[in-house]
Amino acid sequence: MAEETIFSKIIRKEIPADIVYQDDLVTAFRDINPRAPSHMLIIPNKLIPTVNDIEAEDEATMGRMFTVARKLAEEEGIAENGYRLIMNCNNHGGQEVYHIHMHLLGGRPLGPMTVG
Ligand code: 5GP
Repeated sequence: MAEETIFSKIIRKEIPADIVYQDDLVTAFRDINPRAPSHMLIIPNKLIPTVNDIEAEDEATMGRMFTVARKLAEEEGIAENGYRLIMNCNNHGGQEVYHIHMHLLGGRPLGPMTVG
């Protein structure tokens, strides 16, 4: 059984977060340490520690994460100029919180993708 992270508490609203979207499958909230004018995290309500742990039964949830990212980008007014979606996996990927999350970053030119 995977160990819960702070993100489970955010989903259950046990600790404060700027939640911008929540439904039966996913929750989205603003990153506490934004790296761009718009920086949100889209996460499954189910605890999936890393991308390596995604199962076939999670496919609907993974799809929902993308449709929510698209909707939030539109609401945030960054869809037309563009944005970046990032998922980090494990140590070499720079993952810090072991509850998968999609970073949605935008609001300024992000430049070419750098890899550390
Ligand atoms: P990772 O490096 O795992 O891909 O990204 C984790 C992200 O979660 C970081 O961008 C970090 O700022 C964000 N984060 C960590 N703890 C909290 C928290 O308690 N609240 C919010 N809103 N974001 C958090």
